Amino acid sequence: MFDLILRRANLPDGRKAQDIAIRAGKIAEIAPNIDATARQEIDATGRLASPPFVDPHFHMDATLSLGLPRMNRSGTLLEGIALWGELRPTLTIDALVERALRYCDLAVTQGLLAIRTHVDTSDPKLTTVEAMLEVKARVAPYITLQLVAFPQDGYYRAPEGAASLTRALDMGVDIVGGIPHFERTMAEGQASVEALCRLAADRGLPVDMHCDETDDPHSRHVETLAAETIRHGLQGRVAGSHLTSMHSMDNYYVSKLIPLIAEAQMNVIPNPLINIMLQGRHDTYPKRRGMTRVPELMAAGINVSFGHDCVMDPWYAMGSGDMLEVGHMAIHSAQMGSLDDKTKIFNALIVNSAKTMGLENYGLEKGRNADLVLLQARDPAEALRLKATKLLVIKAGQIIARTEPRITQLSLQGRPSSIDPAIGFAPDY
Ligand SMILES: [Zn+2]
Repeated sequence: MFDLILRRANLPDGRKAQDIAIRAGKIAEIAPNIDATARQEIDATGRLASPPFVDPHFHMDATLSLGLPRMNRSGTLLEGIALWGELRPTLTIDALVERALRYCDLAVTQGLLAIRTHVDTSDPKLTTVEAMLEVKARVAPYITLQLVAFPQDGYYRAPEGAASLTRALDMGVDIVGGIPHFERTMAEGQASVEALCRLAADRGLPVDMHCDETDDPHSRHVETLAAETIRHGLQGRVAGSHLTSMHSMDNYYVSKLIPLIAEAQMNVIPNPLINIMLQGRHDTYPKRRGMTRVPELMAAGINVSFGHDCVMDPWYAMGSGDMLEVGHMAIHSAQMGSLDDKTKIFNALIVNSAKTMGLENYGLEKGRNADLVLLQARDPAEALRLKATKLLVIKAGQIIARTEPRITQLSLQGRPSSIDPAIGFAPDY
């Protein structure tokens, strides 16, 4: 007797019509036609069951603050940073917690059950850190939240940047962040990478830096980050977020850089929605698009995952908590449109991100956590194309969100009476 059996589900790895049996919050068995009963049985009817989505790069202290205290008129990264600087002194713990919890509700509806958020440590009051630690505890039953100490105004550039970041780690923040391209000079940026990697090595913590989020082809802090990773033996525990300068770098230089990133076993986290929106702002035409070199990094065996980065905040007046929207933009901006590419992009939203975050017991395998999402699509390519509706979200074997399928009634003479956009439009691959 099981608690729940989800019958006839397709899986992201290509297995078709599998039954997933769940007992005591774990996956007890995955096989076709499991001959057993359960307290609850659900027929997936050949739709896709996926492990939950994972967002490895987000800003939960800023989310849903759009319009406070004013809108970003230029739409640029730098005005966003300035605007956040205006908002920061007015932040309260209650308001930060309320907005973050509201975002987490939305995330759950989208099957997004693990999030790594950067937390601004620039203001020595550390209101943001206190608030996000509270949010982490409150959402723990349904969302795994990791916190990165993020010196938004610069580790060296902000008056108490270094001391505040260290205090945030003392308060229980999980990961060392950085923003070397925003330090005063290239040399100070390099020094910040060196100091922050040493700090992480001393404390046994992972590293996740905003790195080279610029169109400047000479912004090469990623090289330092990879070298410091190797020097301190931090292989596999370091992530480079954004790396947009790689879009503009000289090809010969990149041919040396990518193997170095691979040697350091760095995780790479592009943020397609935000990169496509914020990069290339100083160009006229042709206008660079600024996303890092995703297919080349993947081809080198580097773990690439994608972040949502922002939702309705000083940098981005869009976003929905739907990682399929992130993947949809990744397909376009990386020009990865083949069936094989789409599978890679989908995996980047699930298993690659889980690897970046170091999640344990993640994935649709016997014995792992019974966390999954049932999509209104039959395979990963269709899920991405349709930004598919998340029909069921299951956490530890419990259904925590349910959405009706998107089906439209049609009133056209001689045509079908209803349309399910996920049935009958794609070829049988
Ligand atoms: Zn970011």
